[in-house]
Amino acid sequence: MSSPTTTEDLNPFHITAQQFDRAAAYMPQLKRGLIDYLKRPHRSVIVEFPIEMADGTVQTFTGYRVLHNMVRGPGKGGIRYHPNVNLDEVRALASWMTWKCAVIDVPFGGAKGGVAFNPKEHSEADIRKITRRYISELGDLIGPYTDIPAPDVYTDARTMAWIFDTYSMMHPGRNNLGVVTGKPLDIGGSHGRDEATARGCLYCAERALVRGVVSGRDGVDGARVAIQGFGNAGAHAATLFHEAGAHIIAVSDSQGGILNERGIDLAAVAAYKAKTGTVLGAANARNISNADLLALECDILIPAALENQIRGDNAAAVRARLICEAANGPTTPTADRILQDKDIPVLPDILANSGGVCVSYFEWVQNNENEQWDLQEVNHKLRTKMERAADAVIGKQTEINRSGHTNGPIDLRTAALIVAIDRVAEVALKRGIWP
Ligand code: GLU
Repeated sequence: MSSPTTTEDLNPFHITAQQFDRAAAYMPQLKRGLIDYLKRPHRSVIVEFPIEMADGTVQTFTGYRVLHNMVRGPGKGGIRYHPNVNLDEVRALASWMTWKCAVIDVPFGGAKGGVAFNPKEHSEADIRKITRRYISELGDLIGPYTDIPAPDVYTDARTMAWIFDTYSMMHPGRNNLGVVTGKPLDIGGSHGRDEATARGCLYCAERALVRGVVSGRDGVDGARVAIQGFGNAGAHAATLFHEAGAHIIAVSDSQGGILNERGIDLAAVAAYKAKTGTVLGAANARNISNADLLALECDILIPAALENQIRGDNAAAVRARLICEAANGPTTPTADRILQDKDIPVLPDILANSGGVCVSYFEWVQNNENEQWDLQEVNHKLRTKMERAADAVIGKQTEINRSGHTNGPIDLRTAALIVAIDRVAEVALKRGIWP
């Protein structure tokens, strides 16, 4: 990914505070005492545990689970396996989940977890042991009505199956399916969950374009799209935007990217990546860096990797007409200001990538009812939710910017946060501050 050459504060938790404060400045009605409460995570847990590896050595791992807010429902959010996982990152990701669940309007709060290690350096058996031990250490901190994990960076349906199994071992004799989402289809998973984050991005981009967010472009058909990241979100986004008529001109992964102005052959690149572990060097395309990819002239740029990719030091180089954030936290506050000045709208993570948690919610409902909906039903419900959320955010932006607010016009991220904070604060006050 692109490496920072900036003095900007890139601590993700500090970034969430800056984003919150910017939104709160437009919310005079927000009860002041609530601000501190809504910014801080409710509970942060760190577990350290040993694992006996396949080669007989013992290694100690650090795992995290942060529950940011439960006002609107149980905590919800993925589990990430990555060497850079740390408490402030997990706190930030957990708070983004609170706002995301509120924007997409599912009855969940926000949570996130992670274990700091590189799964690419470990065998499947090691990763299974790490998962089981991490989940058993969390014990009853997770549960179908308290805090519900899901996949995130470098975790997948297979990981979720181990989480479900471990939790079920600890709680025999009851329906535990709702303890985790993103499970395999034959273990209570939902149709459409695997590609839901990307499909939600597509529906969101389509809605925003129809609503006139980019002048002169009212749809995805014919759009030139560059995608940073080729994991679950990025690879599915490439396929789905392509199916919707877009030209995918560039994709990348942690090692670098590839460009073909006439359109990438996605099936060939996926096969090449499965064989070599990277998209770099795929046939019929030119190798580029992740920094080059972010600066490509295109209609839609989809950051679908990690945090802090578009920053104060490279945002001025962005030449996309629309940014659609499939990743969490890819754009820093300094970059947000630069992009706003350049008139490049950003469909923010807490809106654009909320399709993942939306279908997670559908999965949880199906689990509670012991049902399985068909794919068409899932996608139809997802589209309805995404369009409603996009309308609420665009509507809020229009309302504030038309009012000629003294703090100046807002971007879509601030609008989304205002919508979300309003919804959470409203319920907090209705329920009453306990006791
Ligand atoms: N990890 C995903 C996200 O950041 C999905 C969370 C979920 O489904 O609970 O939105």
